[in-house]
Parts: sequence; structure tokens; C-alpha cells
Amino acid sequence: MATQQPDVDALRASRERILERIAAAAARAGRRTEDVMLVAVSKTVAAERLRAAVAAGITLLGENRVQEAASKAPDVPGARWHLVGPLQSNKARRAVELFDVVQTVDSVDLGQRLDRIAAELRPGRRLDVLVQVNVDLDPHKAGVSTSDAAAVVEGLGGCANLAVRGLMTVGRLTTEEREQRATFAGLRTLADELRATLALGPELSMGMSDDFEIAIEEGATIVRVGRAIFGERQAPA
Ligand SMILES: *Cc1c(COP(=O)(O)O)cnc(C)c1O
Repeated sequence: MATQQPDVDALRASRERILERIAAAAARAGRRTEDVMLVAVSKTVAAERLRAAVAAGITLLGENRVQEAASKAPDVPGARWHLVGPLQSNKARRAVELFDVVQTVDSVDLGQRLDRIAAELRPGRRLDVLVQVNVDLDPHKAGVSTSDAAAVVEGLGGCANLAVRGLMTVGRLTTEEREQRATFAGLRTLADELRATLALGPELSMGMSDDFEIAIEEGATIVRVGRAIFGERQAPA
């Protein structure tokens, strides 16, 4: 189906608004706006609308389910994909085929599996991964605890086909700015500590529609924004 121009225009306007908010937050923190990457989280958004998104310059997409990404990706040429949801080991192969970055590695076992598959499917090209950290030990969230993070980052250091680009977290479900900030500052502090002794890249993936500006003020280099670009989701995701 042809891409609808009104969709493209609306998405371009959305993207510009978000980029302006990113730039303003970066400026408040004395940071460069180029140091913050926008991943547009496109879960539940149909492939047709994502083609309009790509036409509007929204080319870096985040999905939280491997299967959903696999079903849409062939219909969205020009997009690149990040996995932002939990990865089951039986979907690791499909994930390596589809995603540029797996943001949700939470165990050495999973990392080693991705490492073996990456060696086979993309020899000589490391797969970028982030380690997901459950900063607040929220039982509803995935990720390693801050106290286990060092062991996982160290274990992944032995995976020659992975590049551990940094850490990722999901903020607290609260409107209290002080609490939102504490989670993001916690991830940043942890990354600084780990980098003193371990090979860990510079990325901090943190911040979503309701809290990305605070995350940027606290050092986010990747923000994952869904609803503020695409609108409220119909189906739960
Ligand atoms: C859905 C999702 C997002 C985007 O959330 P919005 O509130 O729509 O911006 C970001 N990160 C993860 C891990 C998600 O699952």
C-alpha cells in the first residue's frame, strides 16, 4: 500500500517536536544534542505507518518483541531496529538476524548464546549489546541488579563477537521527578564505576515518553520514545 502523505507530515512534525525537546534537555545539562540518540519505540504500530515514519526521517525503531519485529521488518525498508524487550534464548537467532542492537542482555548465558550466533551469522562484525539493569530491584522489571552488573559485564567481556556498548534501564512508574531522577542517576553512577575496571562502552539507554528529558539531564545517550511520537497504543504491549 502507498504511504499516505498526511501520515508522513504528522510524523515528521512529531519527530521535530521530540528532537526540539531533546535539544532543550541536553542544553539544560550542558550536553551536546548529537550525543543523544532517539529510538522510536514502534511496538503495536503497523508496518504501513512505519513506512510513513521512515519517510518522515524516523528510521531507528525499537521493538519489544522479536516476533512482532520479524513480521514487520520486511515491510519497512530503510529502518534499523533495536530490541528493547526481554529476549528468550529460543529467539536469539532471529534477534541476531533482525536487530542492530540488543538492549536487554541480562545474563552471561544469554550473551554467550548471542556471541555464538553472531560468530556464525555475522563473522567479523560484532553485535552491539547493552546490559539491562534493574536499578530499583522492581520485581515487575527485567534486568540484573546493580550488584550483579559487574559480573555480567565482566562475563560478556569474554564474548569476542559482542560489543558491550553500555547499560540500559527502565525508569520508575512515578510522576515524582526526584524518584525518576534517582533511577537514572543510579544507572549513570553504576556505569562510571564499572568503566573504571571493565570494558563497557559509553551508552546509557534510559528515558521514555514521560521521563526522557529528565533522563537526558542525568546523562542518557539513548532515549526510547514510543507514545510521544506515535500516540497512545491501542493494544497493551
Ligand atoms: C514501550 C517501551 C518504551 C516506550 O515507551 P513509551 O512510554 O511509549 O515512550 C521504551 N522502552 C521500553 C523497554 C518499552 O517497552
